Amino acid sequence: MRLSRYFMPVLKEDPKEAQIVSHRLMLRAGMIKQQAAGIYSWLPLGHKLLRRIEQIVHEEQQRAGHIPMLMPTLQPADLWRESGRYDDYGEEMLRITDRHKRDMLYGPTNEEMITDIFRSHVNSYKDLPLTLYHIQWKFRDEIRPRFGVMRGREFLMKDGYNFDLTKEDALHAYNRHLVSYLRTYERMGLQAIPMRADGGPIGGDYTHEFLVLAETGESEVFYDSEITDLKFGNRQIDYDSVEQCQAVLEEFTSRYARTDETHDEAIFDKVPEERRRSARGIEVGQIFYFGTKYSEPMGATVVGPDGSRVPVHMGSHGIGVSRLLGAIIEANHDDKGIIWPEGVTPFHVGIVNLKQGDASTDNACEALYRDLKAAGLDPLYDDRDERAGAKFATMDLIGLPWRITVGPRGLANNKVELTSRRSGESVEMSPAEAVERLR
Ligand code: ATP
Ligand code: MG
Ligand code: MG
Ligand code: MG
Repeated sequence: MRLSRYFMPVLKEDPKEAQIVSHRLMLRAGMIKQQAAGIYSWLPLGHKLLRRIEQIVHEEQQRAGHIPMLMPTLQPADLWRESGRYDDYGEEMLRITDRHKRDMLYGPTNEEMITDIFRSHVNSYKDLPLTLYHIQWKFRDEIRPRFGVMRGREFLMKDGYNFDLTKEDALHAYNRHLVSYLRTYERMGLQAIPMRADGGPIGGDYTHEFLVLAETGESEVFYDSEITDLKFGNRQIDYDSVEQCQAVLEEFTSRYARTDETHDEAIFDKVPEERRRSARGIEVGQIFYFGTKYSEPMGATVVGPDGSRVPVHMGSHGIGVSRLLGAIIEANHDDKGIIWPEGVTPFHVGIVNLKQGDASTDNACEALYRDLKAAGLDPLYDDRDERAGAKFATMDLIGLPWRITVGPRGLANNKVELTSRRSGESVEMSPAEAVERLR
């Protein structure tokens, strides 16, 4: 992409409405625009990142054997009357009446709808196990939408639902989700710690929230510092293996780690004092096993091996896709701007032309731009007629991991400069070497 032809409305001044760094940087980098409280347009740069995060979530869900689909944002109220949640959900639910006076709602989550799909089409235990998921906009009329996309009213969520014959099978699905979430967050350059949590309105005894430690997080958390040493890394996991998934769950939940809702001082006191930590965290996901809570009232049953009908065991598992953008920025920035981890960057590398309009510098930049694309990379070429300082500031703000600086002085010796956004280190090399280094 050539910056002169892109749409990236960067702000020079800090927007007053932003209280936390990720919100401020997303506005300044021209990623989002607020349209109403907690409702945002995703401008091209923000949209590109959102799609990138979605793609990682899709890849990791499908690696775990979960099947993508898409349910609508609007739902009939009657489904929620069947589960009993229509009245329980309260003011967070946006209720809508259509022209025929039918009660509708903008879905805050999809347990009822997926259970309806399941009961319409699945009859036998032979069709289990089954895990379906989608990535779709949700609406929750949050009492205090704030911090930009961190607590929106309209937000993008991955929600997945498992259907199993027995509790044991459903707990395997739970563990599978835990493993896939650990991989997902690490690919995004985040450490998200599974913490014992509270069921809330979705209900359930088995549930973990995934929290990214950050001062601006809205949750209070308590943990044994040893847990932050755990890394999932490059392990190869067979998602069908009950033992392997269970072992990961045990490893990652063996240290004390709880949110304030389930925090227990008596147990926490047994952790050696020097390892006890209390901090703040951002909830980026949550997994639940809730048994037959929905399948029973809604009649989602299968014929079991002995010929009798039984309600299926279910769980639901969410990732806050749009919130993740904010969380990644909270964890990866400095005073100049964002520092995207390589796994989620919107462009692989930025090209800064120090002397726009100078024929040989322009030609070198064009050649570099072409060669980077030919190498399968996605470069952003700052070809605007701007001062070098302004171009550097923009590149630092939007946080691409690499910058190639091209100017007449270096080119006289066939050199450009490759700079790492994270370390700030620059190395001189030929344009061809720079392409090779990034490939
Ligand atoms: P919170 O405690 O922050 O209100 P939640 O527990 O109500 O979140 P879940 O029902 O567990 O949310 O939804 C799954 C994920 O969706 C959450 O872990 C979070 O990452 C994301 N999410 C929930 N509410 C919002 C929101 N208002 N804006 C952005 N993301 C959200
Ligand atoms: Mg909530
Ligand atoms: Mg929560
Ligand atoms: Mg939650």
